[in-house]
Amino acid sequence: MLLRHATLLHLDPPAVEAADVRVADGRITEVAPDLAPAAGEVVRDLRGSWLMPGLVVGHHHLYSALATGMPLPAEEPPDFPAMLAAVWWKLDRALDREAVAVSALVGGLAALRAGVTTVVDHHASPNFIVGSLEVLDEALGALGLRRLLCYEVSDRGGREEARAGLRAHEALLAEDGGGMRAVLVGGHANFTLSDATLRDMAAMARAAGTGLHLHLAEAAEDRAVTGEPLVARLDRLGALLPGSLFAHAVHLDQDELARLEAAGAWVSHQPRSNMNNRVGHAPLRWFGERAVLGTDGIGADMLAELQAGFFRAREAGEPWGPGRFLAALAAGARFAGAHLGVRLGRIEPGAAADLVVCDPQPGPPLSAANLAASLVFRLGAGMVRDVMVAGRWRLLDRQPLALDPAELAPRAEAAARALWARMA
Ligand SMILES: [Zn+2]
Repeated sequence: MLLRHATLLHLDPPAVEAADVRVADGRITEVAPDLAPAAGEVVRDLRGSWLMPGLVVGHHHLYSALATGMPLPAEEPPDFPAMLAAVWWKLDRALDREAVAVSALVGGLAALRAGVTTVVDHHASPNFIVGSLEVLDEALGALGLRRLLCYEVSDRGGREEARAGLRAHEALLAEDGGGMRAVLVGGHANFTLSDATLRDMAAMARAAGTGLHLHLAEAAEDRAVTGEPLVARLDRLGALLPGSLFAHAVHLDQDELARLEAAGAWVSHQPRSNMNNRVGHAPLRWFGERAVLGTDGIGADMLAELQAGFFRAREAGEPWGPGRFLAALAAGARFAGAHLGVRLGRIEPGAAADLVVCDPQPGPPLSAANLAASLVFRLGAGMVRDVMVAGRWRLLDRQPLALDPAELAPRAEAAARALWARMA
């Protein structure tokens, strides 16, 4: 396929280029002006449109897709652990196979419509553990999304549930994901994981050549409950594995963040979730190169996350400007691509053909110098029109090719109603 006359928006590093893009076998094969169509090649004229790389949600909880608007406790929980017990641990315990499947379809569709082509998910459903990753995999695979999956292992439901959580990874870890799927070994957080369970998780990840995906220092209580500096604890248990993803890192000091970076681990930043949960703000000044952006289950709109994060950082006096936020958005593609074994986030020969066509947004001309600021102040996911993953269109004119949203809607409503009833 030949995509002609597009204006390319490169995110890593920011640049704007007028060029044609040739795609074959799921990859970009040529990027240059005025490429001549080959015999029999499908040609699409993108004159006036922007073409950017598919976006990556660096830390998501698709299982919360049916939670928006659910009844909340009459009284505000006093702290973050109380909030988990009163809201989120009721929700995940109420998830069954249907709710997991529908959540993945609903959340996956929202991701596609936001220009996302890869979702890094962190899943929990304590009453449907083994088999849950396969259900997510099938739903996201049907939509055509790339995915990094894991199950949130925890001792909060007892040792048997923790063992089942580990087992939930086994089948998919043993399979080749073909560049579309990778598996990390997931865990909830230090304060709900025993030494023995964390050791087992690390051993499983090491044996499979993958990393851990864990909440780390999201709230001050994470440290208070274990009574041990968190990064030192992970190190002691052999859990500081390269390629691991530690979400939030709100309550870590400079040395601890440097230690994660030196270990080859990544951290993810979810400013909207941090604000919503009132857990404090992440010390971005100490975050290194391997810092990505996620949503923590608040949808999949990465440009909204970037925008809110910028304003939050500005108010807090953190030194991250628009360019630094754009770099974190781009880092998500490097993280996910390393696990999937494909080059993501770039429009260049050899990279995956994960591309987003955006409607033209009249205004000042875009340039390398103003692209990041334009993403904060001017552009948004509403400009996303078509999405290609691995060389195949998965969204055209904002409509998914895999399913009819009008048919998904009543199924989603029924699943949400049933889920909320179980929670009550
Ligand atoms: Zn999370």
